[in-house]
Amino acid sequence: MVITIRLTQRKSLVDLGDTTMSIRPCAIIVHGGAGQIPEESLPRRLEGCNQAALAGWKILENGGTALDAVEAAVILLEDNPLFNAGTGSTLNALGQVEMDAAIMEGRTLTAGAVAAVTGIKNPVQLARKVLEDGRHVVLAGEGALRFARQVGVPEFSPEFLVIDEERMRWNKKHGTVGCVAADETGQVVAGTSTGGIFDKLPGRIGDTPLIGCGTYADSAGAASCTGMGEAIIRAVMGKTALDLVRSGYHPMEAARRAVAELEEKTGGKAGLIIIDHQGRIGHARNTTHMPVCIITGPGEISVHS
Ligand code: ASP
Repeated sequence: MVITIRLTQRKSLVDLGDTTMSIRPCAIIVHGGAGQIPEESLPRRLEGCNQAALAGWKILENGGTALDAVEAAVILLEDNPLFNAGTGSTLNALGQVEMDAAIMEGRTLTAGAVAAVTGIKNPVQLARKVLEDGRHVVLAGEGALRFARQVGVPEFSPEFLVIDEERMRWNKKHGTVGCVAADETGQVVAGTSTGGIFDKLPGRIGDTPLIGCGTYADSAGAASCTGMGEAIIRAVMGKTALDLVRSGYHPMEAARRAVAELEEKTGGKAGLIIIDHQGRIGHARNTTHMPVCIITGPGEISVHS
């Protein structure tokens, strides 16, 4: 019988007579989008990822769930206008913001996603409501907004999501955000949020809210992808990466192989982050940059660009 208890020092196994109480190692990894990032903005993006990872880590460290940790981390990134998600989302061909987001739990395969939504400050929060409601997996456009009203997710004037247009153009190829985390119960969660790609056709839905493509979690782990959405969809990148973990590869090697496979099959550019139930981390990209922050224990923080 496995019972989970809360300890300040994780990675412990406590034997109490006939009951083994196991605490799984918690970990969290955040990405700030794959692409070519101007050198001068890299430190601020890494700092944004660091802040988000720390917010999620605080929840995990206090015995909170991976679902809460991932949601909190992604909300911080959506609120940071440096990233192409929530406030600061890139514009479609009509100059409008249309956002995609998803969140998924590995143990239960429960998932919630929203696609092509506008007028919502934090799409990942709405995606979580879809997950909790349980009737559907993906809600799009006007229907998603109607659902938001029903479940009390506040609306937000679309113009507040749009920041300086020049900065948007400058940001056009990167800045999607994502997070994967493992909590002390061994639950893993993936969350991803994006404004999509610059100048996309209205109604275009990318890989992010498509379960198995940009966002996926199952018994092997959790994955969040970023990059050319059309390529990620065709390669079913998230599921492909976790199948590699399931077949025995370390998440780092699985991430490398998933990127190589995507490139070989589609010629696409992308990156992804992975976590497994033991809190082992993987990340890889075939783009110039993908800011990443990893926390695997108190004070065990690393950032990569
Ligand atoms: N994957 C996102 C999309 O295609 C874009 C990105 O990650 O930058 O919607």
